[in-house]
Amino acid sequence: YLRLEGLAKRFGETQVLSQIDAEIAKGEFVTLLGPSGCGKSTLLRAIAGLNQLDDGRIVVDDEEITALPPQRRGIGMVFQHYALFPNMRVSDNVAFGLRMQKVPQEERRRRIDEVLRLVELQAHANKFPHQLSGGQCQRVALARALVVEPRILLMDEPLSALDARIRGHLREQLRDIQQTLGLTTLFVTHDQEEALMMSDRIFLMHDGRILQQGAAEELYTRPSGRHAAGFMGHYN
Ligand code: ATP
Ligand code: MG
Repeated sequence: YLRLEGLAKRFGETQVLSQIDAEIAKGEFVTLLGPSGCGKSTLLRAIAGLNQLDDGRIVVDDEEITALPPQRRGIGMVFQHYALFPNMRVSDNVAFGLRMQKVPQEERRRRIDEVLRLVELQAHANKFPHQLSGGQCQRVALARALVVEPRILLMDEPLSALDARIRGHLREQLRDIQQTLGLTTLFVTHDQEEALMMSDRIFLMHDGRILQQGAAEELYTRPSGRHAAGFMGHYN
């Protein structure tokens, strides 16, 4: 599981995250939904260890990880714009984390093979990112996050740069893989429909706070306040 306790973060004068308390169960798929600038990326980056918090604790499976460096947190992250290494082949992009962990070559090969099969990219292992479509690049980014066998997967709008048809397909593929691996997942989107389709639960975020947590249908039928209602497409 992933537990967030009282997380807080400010940039200068702006309080970007306030009193974030939440828990995501093992194998659960949770979507963080909220308007632009509400702090979604900041929260994910803080969990991944890519930016510092001012306050709070992050706990994964009984281990506090708040002060650990990113590579020791057991967290995989996928970004909106892939962030692949342009001068490396697909297999080397995927191998990156394993090299950092000094995994021996033989095992590295086996795990890269396995994860490329999982994302259906075996045939593209020797290509460079510029030779791939957006959807394929995002699957490389996913493979790179998964190959180190993370305990938690964080995805920051991984589908929003893709065109609608590919987005639909990748949505299903992502959910299949996540369920197959039983991976605890926190996913960010702007897209309400995507959130409703994919999530076990949704966290509605506004102004650096989580306003409401619940199953998709619960948020949709019983939004807790004006912001929640507005965001779920109700107007009052
Ligand atoms: P979007 O949906 O547009 O991606 P978001 O919910 O991911 O938005 P964040 O990127 O987390 O929002 O930003 C939250 C707030 O923090 C914004 O007001 C933003 O301007 C501010 N912010 C983010 N990163 C920094 C930074 N490095 N320095 C200063 N302010 C920042
Ligand atoms: Mg963002």
